[in-house]
Amino acid sequence: MRVELLPSSVGPKSSESGDSPQFLVSYLVNDSVVIDGGAIGLLADLDRQRKVRHVFVTHEHIDHIASLPILLENVYERGPNCVEILAAADVLDFLHHDIFNGRVWPDFFDLSTATDPFLKATPLQAGASIERAGLTITPLRVDHCVDTLGLVVDDGDAVVAFPSDTGPTSMLWEHLNAAPRLDAVFLEVSFPNALHGLACETGHHCPATFAAEVAKLTRPVRWIVVHRKARFAAEIRQELKALAIPGLELVEEGRGYEFP
Ligand SMILES: [Zn+2]
Ligand SMILES: [Zn+2]
Repeated sequence: MRVELLPSSVGPKSSESGDSPQFLVSYLVNDSVVIDGGAIGLLADLDRQRKVRHVFVTHEHIDHIASLPILLENVYERGPNCVEILAAADVLDFLHHDIFNGRVWPDFFDLSTATDPFLKATPLQAGASIERAGLTITPLRVDHCVDTLGLVVDDGDAVVAFPSDTGPTSMLWEHLNAAPRLDAVFLEVSFPNALHGLACETGHHCPATFAAEVAKLTRPVRWIVVHRKARFAAEIRQELKALAIPGLELVEEGRGYEFP
């Protein structure tokens, strides 16, 4: 399985920032499946955008959907082959009525016909696995400030978990502890420890709660840290380093991760 967290910043970074800031969330999995629509519509290589057939949306926050309307505009072609958006029913309803509503962007839901669709919308249910593009994808509820589905992706050779935005949670770790295989977890840390209270209130992690989540998993795995808020990125990096968690690494945007 090949996974890339798409870059989401433009131009040269400032010298003190250390690494590229992550503003938006889009993972490209094996070229044709995308998890979250933050940055996918910004890919300069339009051929890569055209290969996208399935976009899973974990929740409706803007950093996870920002360029989804741009992707759909970019890849539309007359005929039956359209992009499929997969999300919880309430997220699909939000996308239709608050984004694709004929004002913010064209109503691609109602404009779609059987022979000439702009998009196909497929509701996801927590715990119900779905097969797309040779991948088995299992959505599971996590604990964020809005209803959010984490995703576990299995290609038969490797299993990778994308919990999306979440604070301390349990069902996901129970599922992963019982799974026959797990290669990596792309887990978020949004805030530094000084903002532990804010992290808890908003359903995010700080390094201290991240470490507690690591302890919930009963197997060694690659922990790939994502979603550091740009203004706290350096502070979070220091705090994570001090924890010395085995298998922990900071994500590199634009790097193609191969699993296994
Ligand atoms: Zn969020
Ligand atoms: Zn987010």
